[in-house]
Parts: sequence; C-alpha cells; structure tokens
Amino acid sequence: VDIHGAGRKNSRGINLNVRSQWEPFERALRVQLEHRWQAAPLVDGQVLAGEVHEVRSPQDLDRVVGTVWFAGAELVDRAMARLAAAWPRWNATPMERRAAIFGRLADLLEEHRTELVALCILEAGKTIQDSLDEVREAVDFCRYYAQQARLTLKRTELRGPTGERNELFYEGRGLFVCISPWNFPLAIYLGQIVAALVAGNCVLAKPAEQTSLIAARALELLFAAGLPKEAIAFLPGDGPALGAACCADPHLAGVCFTGSTETARLINRRLAWRDGPLVTLIAETGGQNVMIVDSTALPEQVVKDALHSAFTSAGQRCSALRVLYLQNEIAGPVIELLRGAMAELRVGLPQRRDTDVGPLIDTQARQALLEHVDLLKGEERLLAEAGLAPALNGHFLAPLAFEIGGIGELRKEHFGPILHVVRYAAEDLEQVVAAINASGYGLTLGVHSRNEATARRIEALTRVGNLYVNRNQIGAVVGVQPFGGCGLSGTGPKAGGPNYLLRFVHERSTAINT
Ligand code: GLU
Repeated sequence: VDIHGAGRKNSRGINLNVRSQWEPFERALRVQLEHRWQAAPLVDGQVLAGEVHEVRSPQDLDRVVGTVWFAGAELVDRAMARLAAAWPRWNATPMERRAAIFGRLADLLEEHRTELVALCILEAGKTIQDSLDEVREAVDFCRYYAQQARLTLKRTELRGPTGERNELFYEGRGLFVCISPWNFPLAIYLGQIVAALVAGNCVLAKPAEQTSLIAARALELLFAAGLPKEAIAFLPGDGPALGAACCADPHLAGVCFTGSTETARLINRRLAWRDGPLVTLIAETGGQNVMIVDSTALPEQVVKDALHSAFTSAGQRCSALRVLYLQNEIAGPVIELLRGAMAELRVGLPQRRDTDVGPLIDTQARQALLEHVDLLKGEERLLAEAGLAPALNGHFLAPLAFEIGGIGELRKEHFGPILHVVRYAAEDLEQVVAAINASGYGLTLGVHSRNEATARRIEALTRVGNLYVNRNQIGAVVGVQPFGGCGLSGTGPKAGGPNYLLRFVHERSTAINT
C-alpha cells in the first residue's frame, strides 16, 4: 500500500495578479461581503436556544457580521448522551460510505469558496490571500483524510501459526470533542472534525468563540454532503465553561485541541482528574519559532522569507517566525534590507487586494501585544517598523522588529506581528541551538545557509516538528509537510500526515482458531 497516496492532488487556488481570475472573483466577493450569518447550538440536527451575541468584524467594530447563540454548559450533557446513542451506528457505517461524504464536502467547499472567503475576511480578519489558502487547506484535509482512511484503516491479516487466522482492524474510539482555534477557523476546524469522523468517532464540535459563524456554515455544508445529523453536535460558546463540562463527561473518549499551551495544560489536568475511562489528548499548541541565518545565506532571500514567516496572517500563526538569529557577518545588510522592506508593508482592510497585514483578532490580543511592545520600546530596542496602521475602528497593529539578546528573554509566545532579532557569533552556533531547545517549544525552525552540512547539523541538534531550509517556515501543505510539534508545542501528532488518523482509532486484533 502506498500510504502517501500517489496520484492525489491538492486543490487549486486563484492567482490574484491575473486579471481574468481576479475580476470575476472580486465581483462575486463583493456580493458575499454584504451577507449576514447566524450560528446556534445544534444537537441531533435540532437548533437549541442560547445566549445571543452580536458578531462584529475585527477590522471594523461598527460592522455587524451576524448573530451567534452561545450554548450553556448544561447542553454538553445532552449532546454527549445523544452522540453516545448514535455512535454504534456511525462506527458501523462502511468506510467507503464515510469517506465518500468528505469527498463531497471538499467539492461543496470549493463550490462555496467565495462565501467562505468572505466569512474568513469578515469574521476572522484574514486577508484575501490567507482566506483563499484557508479554503484550499480545508479542501485538502477533507480529500486527504478520506483517502488515508481508505488506504490505511483497513482490516488486514497478520501472519501467525498455521491453523489460526489473525486480523488487525480499526474502530473509532467513541466520542471526540474537537476544540479549534480562531486563526484557522475553517481549515483546522474541519481538519479535526473530518479526521475524527472518518476514523469512526462521533464529534462534539466546539469552535473558537471568535469564529462561530464560519464554523456553523461549514457544518451546514457537512450535512449537505450527507453526514448523518446524529453523528455531530455543535456547541459554540465560552471555552472554559464548555471545556470543563466536556472533559468531565463520562462518555468522552478523546479531545482534539489546537490553541494555546496554557489551555492544553488545563485540559490535560482536567482529563487526569476525571473518573471513568482514560481519555486521549491530541494537542497542537504554540511555538517560539526561530530562523537561524549564517553568513553564507542570501540576504534578499532571508528578508523575503523572514517577512513572510513573521507577518503573514498578522503573525497570528503558531508556525510564525518570532526570533530571527543573524550571524554577525551578515546581520548589518539583512537588518538594513529588513528596515526597507518593512516600511513597504501595507497594514489595512483585509478585503483589499494590496493589504499585506490585516487586523488582530480582538482587543485582548492587541492589548497583550502592546504591553510587550511598550516594554521593548521603553528599552529603546526598536529596529524596524511598518507603515502606520490605518485610522480605522479595528484591532490593527503595524509590524515591528526589536533587537533582543536571545530567545531566553522571551517568557511567552507573542502571538502577533512582532519580530525579535538576535545577533550571534559563528562560534556560538551550538549555544544558539541549546537556547532554542531550552525554550521547551518545538514547532517550526527555519535555517538559511548555503552549506547543507550546517542545516543537517542543526537538524540533528534540535527537536522541532517542522524544519524549513532556505525558504519561509509557514503554510505547511497537507500531505506534503505534515504539521505539528513536540514539548510545549503539542503532543506530537502530525495534521495532514499519513499517521494522523491512527491517533483517532482503537486498534483491535482478533485471532480465530480455524
Ligand atoms: N499549519 C499552519 C502553518 O503551517 C499553522 C497552524 C496554526 O497556526 O495553528 O502555517
């Protein structure tokens, strides 16, 4: 079996610089941007009541995007009991029927691409390019996991003594709670759900508070693709309250979580202290991601890749570059180019094609970053800055770069468009690597060097999940760069990789004396 699924193709995008592709898309997008959406708790296909919230766009607080009804924690009990009753039917559904649903979902996502892009822009503040990439990634997850399920989750016979038949097969674990982040409100949200469902689990979906509308819309498409309504419950609402109730529920078999390290720890604690069956935790959390640049690197390429890695999605990716380590001999020219390139960045409305950096997700996110910025500015460590953020009623923050002494100075992950720059001496490379390892995170690492032996040495000395050499370090592609880290960055599973689904199944063996 070729578990990498040769012959599979990832989805296609739109080239925003080609007029014949951009203009029709823009016309359709303009219509969708006027839309209003709704989201409400859903159990067994039934819409339930909740607390009403008006959703406002992070780019403009005067702009209402829709209405969401937040579920109270008391709905968790009801949802889990219904899912538990439905699970044997879904688990017994033939794999081919399950996988076909997600193939159809991929087609529907492509068909509704413009509306989904509009939602990503308005509800999550993502730029057009980011939003298009997000829909593509969601489509890729659906097709990839459907294919992986067909290829790998099959009953197989294992060799044993004659007169005996030995089989290995897979079942869903039971009920999974999928808790997804606002920074990938469609791709990671659906990636988690599709993996859990296709492997034979029923799912309670808990989207990030900030992005319930897009989650609800994706769920409608999932039902249109043929998912039985009883196989999934949807509970938008307050993370801590719903999370606590989910973790305590006796029916729970697994939690799939993407978000902060702090929240993953909290979930882990709750799971440790609960009564009943032991529960598996799949967690993909933060990073303190570094790019190491030695003196053989090409300065122009370094600056292009560093900017892309640090400021795409306004730095709101767990893979984003946070600390740029420059060897002394190359630091001067790189910093000068960086200054010029950052001054050119455009901060603005995400629906404008020429915007490089859109808004942050909310006030709290901006406030936390401003505290860090004030501290570094106070110490006069500012190195470079982007053009001013527009005077708009949104959560904008223009990218900034500061010089610091080393990664050890950063006490936590700063989730936004702030780059830290460190100079190092060639003979201190091993110390640099030791400092990266000492941070405890292990998500992405970039290396810029024309000396492959250096890159290989760094590969051997570090323990990151995703290493990128002489390129940017974000935007892992489904089926090509399986994504996920270790240590403070997560429990290790690789989303979009050939072993991901195995984390969602219970492996069984049957031996028959014939
Ligand atoms: N997979 C994304 C990337 O490679 C990051 C996911 C995240 O931020 O959670 O950029």
